[in-house]
Amino acid sequence: MLSVSGLHAGYGESTVLHGLDFELHRGEVICLLGANGAGKTTTMGVLSGLVAASAGRIRYDGADLLAMPSHERVMAGVALSPEGRKVFPNLTVEENLVLGSFNVNARAQRKRKLDEVYDLFPRLAERRRQSSGLMSGGEQQMLALGRALMANPRLLLLDEPSLGLAPKVVQTMFAAIRTIAATDITILLVEQNTHAALSVATRGYVMAAGRIVHAGDTTELRASPEVREAFIGGK
Ligand code: ATP
Repeated sequence: MLSVSGLHAGYGESTVLHGLDFELHRGEVICLLGANGAGKTTTMGVLSGLVAASAGRIRYDGADLLAMPSHERVMAGVALSPEGRKVFPNLTVEENLVLGSFNVNARAQRKRKLDEVYDLFPRLAERRRQSSGLMSGGEQQMLALGRALMANPRLLLLDEPSLGLAPKVVQTMFAAIRTIAATDITILLVEQNTHAALSVATRGYVMAAGRIVHAGDTTELRASPEVREAFIGGK
């Protein structure tokens, strides 16, 4: 479904991704592990079109993803749930969710998608008329994920869904990720919580200094020194 090869990207003069290669097949949940600063969020940025690539290729369902502007990628089914939640604080929960469904493909299914998101996170249904800025960190994270689902994605990019959340809320988030994974949505998960990530993933990659340094199934990754190193080096 997704094939990244020789990807270089960065910010101004500084290159962060130095020839990244990885693949995702339909139906997989792939986790991208690695220490702070390895380039995981930058990878998500390039995939969603927020960060420009300077070299390399990304094929998505046979198409050249890098040639597509961000809004076309959303239409093609690529949706990002960004790190740090980034909900619109002055809008209500439901207004934030509706903003996720602005592309033509998603708009027609808005009602059904809203019901699905509210089923997944009943807390959001209870708070649908509340200002998002007044919600807890965990609720805002649910909202960021819900908003990405409203775009009717086929490939969901999940950047640090458990960052800064209390253990109970982390459990809620991962239960939701499992539910989403059981649908036809393919997931790329960036997560500092290695144990939680490996509990939902089918396979994973370890990044260091803008490259993949290790790949394997979850059993291998749990046992690998690279993962231990990344885990210990993480936040
Ligand atoms: P983290 O867990 O800290 O998010 P990460 O693996 O996701 O780690 P990135 O956020 O991709 O790493 O950051 C990789 C490098 O790019 C870091 O050195 C960071 O300082 C730099 N960087 C990230 N965002 C920007 C930006 N907007 N402008 C300039 N440099 C940036």
